[in-house]
Amino acid sequence: MTIIVVGAGLAGGTAVTELRDRGYDGRLILIGSESHPPYERPPLSKGYLLGNDPIEDALVHEERWYAEHDVDFRPSTTVTGLDPAAHRVTAGGETLGYDKLLLATGSTPRTFRLAEEAGTPTAYLRTIEDSDRLKVAFAAGAKIVVVGAGWIGLEVTAAARGAGCEVTVFEQAELPLVGVLGPEIAQVFADLHRAHGVDLRLGTPVTADDLAAADLVVVGIGVAPNTELAETAGLQVDDGVLVDAQLRTSDPDVYAVGDIANHDHPTLGRRVRVEHWETAIEQAKTAAHNLAGAAEPYERLPYFFTDQYDLGMEYVGSVGPDGYDRVDVDGDLSSVVTDQGSFRAFWVKDGTVVAALHVNDWDASEVIRESIGTRR
Ligand SMILES: Cc1cc2nc3c(=O)[nH]c(=O)nc-3n(C[C@H](O)[C@H](O)[C@H](O)COP(=O)(O)OP(=O)(O)OC[C@H]3O[C@@H](n4cnc5c(N)ncnc54)[C@H](O)[C@@H]3O)c2cc1C
Repeated sequence: MTIIVVGAGLAGGTAVTELRDRGYDGRLILIGSESHPPYERPPLSKGYLLGNDPIEDALVHEERWYAEHDVDFRPSTTVTGLDPAAHRVTAGGETLGYDKLLLATGSTPRTFRLAEEAGTPTAYLRTIEDSDRLKVAFAAGAKIVVVGAGWIGLEVTAAARGAGCEVTVFEQAELPLVGVLGPEIAQVFADLHRAHGVDLRLGTPVTADDLAAADLVVVGIGVAPNTELAETAGLQVDDGVLVDAQLRTSDPDVYAVGDIANHDHPTLGRRVRVEHWETAIEQAKTAAHNLAGAAEPYERLPYFFTDQYDLGMEYVGSVGPDGYDRVDVDGDLSSVVTDQGSFRAFWVKDGTVVAALHVNDWDASEVIRESIGTRR
């Protein structure tokens, strides 16, 4: 039996670990375009970017672990072809056969043409190399313009302010993160960054002149799932690779997880594609079991976290396309802006909690998770 894992990111690295931990002793090949062994990306906009944590802390394992566990790890190698009918992939000029395949190809930052055209140095943040480049610019006290006040844009902003840079952020929405958090909680993030001296321009389209004034433009306007391989292989793709409850694609021997997986979530009752750390880990574990012969559904609720300045947040659940009726807040929203206070928030739809978060209240991690689906 041969299992091939395409994409050596967090999900790919977790899947091969779980397969070996659970006793799978067949052939196992892990193929990744990057030169590094699998690593976690959250530190790239937080502890590693701030210079607090070494890159070793972000690795799923040291490189030698793969050989020690009989994983045929092929870094700096891109899979360029997949033929599900023949059970074959093409990678680095070689053709490799498989019995089961896992796609974990992640995503790529969306590019912003105006920034490229403005002629100002422009950076994106996805890889270790990207983070290294930002670190150098921040150390030099550069004047930074951030385009997009999403999670990456705001974390980069916090790191740049921490390094003493002057930062202007442009966001076309009226509030940062408003699409995910709604106006009540999004306002907290606007206040937080302004309290830290950020020039936050909301509801404002950025112009070429704005960009030209910067030493470095950092673009954080979202990512696109890397689905080309799946698409050309004839797998069903629609905003990600379509997978069933068990993370299986339209081909029964090919699974997909992490940022690329558009998952038919059995308890939410709708499709979700989650571009977050925990989903990459937990879906990879479930897929590993299923690659080895199980038939487990993936039922975990979406979860994500962020760290910005002294604010730490965890969010669990999902507000559906019909939105929410109200947000119940326990605590004082303004207390987290300057005083490291804390609060919990619960998004309620038809009397039931559909999503919840806490800020700086680490005892609440389980409380918020357990609140989902209860009446409040
Ligand atoms: C800077 C940053 C900070 C983040 N912070 C947080 C956070 O605080 N909280 C949170 O919940 N989430 C965070 N995330 C999101 C989280 O890191 C991602 O959701 C997670 O990395 C997804 O894992 P993945 O394995 O699906 O994809 P990836 O980590 O993108 O890995 C995919 C890998 O596959 C490789 N690949 C692609 N195509 C091929 C191919 N054809 N052949 C071979 N290899 C291929 C890619 O090069 C890449 O190495 C952050 C992301 C970034 C970039």
